[in-house]
Amino acid sequence: MTPQEKEAFRDRIATVDESGKRVWIYPKKPKGHYYRWRTYVSWVLLAFLFGAPFIKIHGEPMFLFNVLERKFILFGIPFMPQDFHLFVLAMLTLVVFIILFTVVWGRLFCGWVCPQTIFMEMVFRKIEYWIDGDANQQRKLAQMPWNAEKIRKRVLKYGIFFAIAVLVANTFLAWIIGVDQVIRIASEPIAQHKAGFTAMLLFSGAFFFVFSYLREQVCVAICPYGRLQGVLLDDNSIVVIYDFVRGEPRGKLRKNRKKPDPVRAIQENVSKELAAKQLESTPEEKPLRLQGDCIDCKLCVQVCPTGIDIRNGTQLECINCTACMDACDAVMDKIKKPRGLIRYDSYNGIVEGRKTIWTPRVIGYTVVLALLIVANIVLLATRGIGEAVILRQPGFTYKETADGKLMNLYQFKVYNKTTDDMPIDFRLLNEDEAVIRVVGVDSTLVVPAGDMAEGNLMIELPKEAMSGKSKKIFIEVVSGDRRVDKVKTNFLGPFKF
Ligand code: SF4
Ligand code: SF4
Repeated sequence: MTPQEKEAFRDRIATVDESGKRVWIYPKKPKGHYYRWRTYVSWVLLAFLFGAPFIKIHGEPMFLFNVLERKFILFGIPFMPQDFHLFVLAMLTLVVFIILFTVVWGRLFCGWVCPQTIFMEMVFRKIEYWIDGDANQQRKLAQMPWNAEKIRKRVLKYGIFFAIAVLVANTFLAWIIGVDQVIRIASEPIAQHKAGFTAMLLFSGAFFFVFSYLREQVCVAICPYGRLQGVLLDDNSIVVIYDFVRGEPRGKLRKNRKKPDPVRAIQENVSKELAAKQLESTPEEKPLRLQGDCIDCKLCVQVCPTGIDIRNGTQLECINCTACMDACDAVMDKIKKPRGLIRYDSYNGIVEGRKTIWTPRVIGYTVVLALLIVANIVLLATRGIGEAVILRQPGFTYKETADGKLMNLYQFKVYNKTTDDMPIDFRLLNEDEAVIRVVGVDSTLVVPAGDMAEGNLMIELPKEAMSGKSKKIFIEVVSGDRRVDKVKTNFLGPFKF
């Protein structure tokens, strides 16, 4: 086999045939140590996903990502559009974290945490195994003509799929608009919530389509994170990998089998680098292996939800779901060989036995990430309880009052970043004789929790306070004895010679 032929599997994805048609994957039901632990992790994550929208702190949701109304709550702390710099920095930190995590741990996230994998493999696929049976039964069912059994199974399966898709859609909406609003949309007449109801239907339809039809194509062809693997992974990244040093030359497990021709076996089955290494070595230095531990049972391929053969090497399609590790470990147990022929390791770990993850690239990313995390902590710790914007009223310069003072008019917006209502006062710094009051408000102005108040502010100064036609003034916004913000602006008066 030429090197080009050996690499030909990379020319197209495993789920598309030569004519460009989708190849439907029927992965064999996985079982084993890793699958069990992934199931436990998925229970915790699903409980969090479905339960978190119901948790409230001071009457507000613990998390809210209302992009429509630009209202965000994290751990009960409201964030506003004024905190956009925090958002940008947090996103930057997240991107660097993802890069660092992927450089070191490959697609660990995809296999263990990604909602797409969790729902597909731990919810929808399990229901499919329960109704349609394992891979072979699923294949038979797909090929059989429409009869009572097929109709019953299809109606049951897709009925349950749609019900779960509706539940998932409602849950995602609850993270965006809050669980109370979702309950209102679901329980009140549709006419009152046309937009909300349409969003629910669209989300439900999208989730149903993704989990019943698109499936692994999301990870293989759509997800941008998956596409990034090609530039993020290197030979030191820990991924689900086949130990070709130990496994090759592969061959069927047969009693009294003929010994393979070692040179031919290596050329055919072992990676280029390893073949070169082994062929260079003398039998005294490193005896050639006649038979590797892989018995070519292809169970690792049969369980793969993306339809690839991990023995071909690291591939973009691999979501690190560990199904092949479990399948191969079970085979190794049966043939009494050590587990881990397919395991978490790096290419260099396999070839050279090197385990270090601290490469210059990783150190560089770690330093940048540490700096970003410190910046995030400092900005969060120094984030005030509110923010104020005070601007001069457009088109208004100054006015002389009946008692001979000068009056300027301003527009203000005060943001309350706390979870409690905030009574506020305005003070003019360094101006003892100033009069300052909110137009149209006689009592104390209260800014609702996590919200904003706006209005007009009137400031009066004695004429003697002015030395020119404009003066810098500092307005302090306070709530009790706490400063909310301090704003610098101008006060205008008549021109003086
Ligand atoms: S499951 Fe293990 S032994 Fe079987 S083909 Fe895959 S790597 Fe080889
Ligand atoms: S190769 Fe293994 S880890 Fe990767 S997607 Fe397939 S079964 Fe999962």
